[in-house]
Amino acid sequence: MLYRTVPRTGDKLSALGFGCMRLPSTRTGGVDEERAIRQIRHAIDNGVNYIDTAPVYHFGKSEQVLGKALAGGFREKVRIATKLPHWEVFERADMDRILDGQLKTLQTDHIDYYLLHSLAGKSFRIMKDLGVLEFLDSAKKDGRIRNAGFSFHGSLDDFKEIVDAYTWDFCQIQYNYLDEKNQAGTEGLKYAAAKGLAVMIMEPLRGGNLAGRVPESIRKIWDEAPVKRSPAEWGLRWVWDHPEVTVVLSGMNDEVHIDENLCVAGDAACGSLSDEERALIGRVRDEYRRLMKVGCTGCGYCMPCPAGVDIPGCFASYNAHALFPHDREVKFQYVGRHGGLMGEKSCASLCRQCGKCAKACPQHLPIPDLMKEVSKEMEGMMDIVVPIMKGGLWCINRVKRVKRAILGEKSHA
Ligand code: SF4
Ligand code: SF4
Repeated sequence: MLYRTVPRTGDKLSALGFGCMRLPSTRTGGVDEERAIRQIRHAIDNGVNYIDTAPVYHFGKSEQVLGKALAGGFREKVRIATKLPHWEVFERADMDRILDGQLKTLQTDHIDYYLLHSLAGKSFRIMKDLGVLEFLDSAKKDGRIRNAGFSFHGSLDDFKEIVDAYTWDFCQIQYNYLDEKNQAGTEGLKYAAAKGLAVMIMEPLRGGNLAGRVPESIRKIWDEAPVKRSPAEWGLRWVWDHPEVTVVLSGMNDEVHIDENLCVAGDAACGSLSDEERALIGRVRDEYRRLMKVGCTGCGYCMPCPAGVDIPGCFASYNAHALFPHDREVKFQYVGRHGGLMGEKSCASLCRQCGKCAKACPQHLPIPDLMKEVSKEMEGMMDIVVPIMKGGLWCINRVKRVKRAILGEKSHA
């Protein structure tokens, strides 16, 4: 395993981090705990020392399983990263309550890397007004967290605003060879690194879409490479090639993939790709772009939309759906991110057809017309699914509150 250094602290982190958002599942759809624990411990035994989870992954089960996996001496070998869900925070006291609950669930007295989960500009400003920066300071001071950071899914301008707003130790961005100009992108990666932040990478393979079964024309390009590598290995090596990258997170749940990733992580140093290999990956990227429905580069010049549409975000999901129509997770992610499940709604159907965005788009995309297409293709069941899921989350939170109230009463008795 290769290790990379966190600039502010000198902490040495494994180049490969274990992401606990896609743990192996049972036939009935729950987490296969035994197998997940075995996989996490196997990764630790082979050098992984950074493990990423969040309350929302597997509806709370991910943190629980990780807590169990780290019992029996494994906790001391790793850094835990978990996140504060901003959509569950309504007042300052919620932040302490959620963090204290996470410490219990994870069976630890501190979180090594604590992130504000899935920020964009607006959610950050709301959290800032609620006192989140003071919360991070005090949680660091009393030792409940060691490093403060944020994960991000917004525009480049928003990203820079957040980076500049606090002395962050690290951030987590979506980055892969298709997303160089999407969200924070390469410019955001370099910006954060230049300000001394460690940068953790999520979605290095776009949720697995750049690995496994790839479109036929893409496979032909990979076959031309003199060195034979899987699409997953090419994708991971491209990310690790960047010196600004600290940890690459992979949401692993298959023993063969875990061993493949561990093997590549022991060899993929910064700058290890040749110019010919970078050019080959560039051709694959161009082919993916040719196959996509909308030529959006994610530059963000069309933003902000007065109606609240996340224009580049909607196009990114629409393109992912066009490339991988068999992948149901793409639509699920669209609903999660843009349908109002995790914060404000920002979906295509909010578009009021004002045309402001189209005037600003350097690609001259007919954005208002495209928004109608995106809405039709991606939002079929959204009005039914979102209220049901919100209702489910409300019930889970309600049960938690009742439990807390009963336990509180008992401890006062
Ligand atoms: S046309 Fe639609 S997407 Fe574009 S700025 Fe107006 S409301 Fe927003
Ligand atoms: S301005 Fe055009 S290319 Fe840039 S993010 Fe908006 S739609 Fe995409």
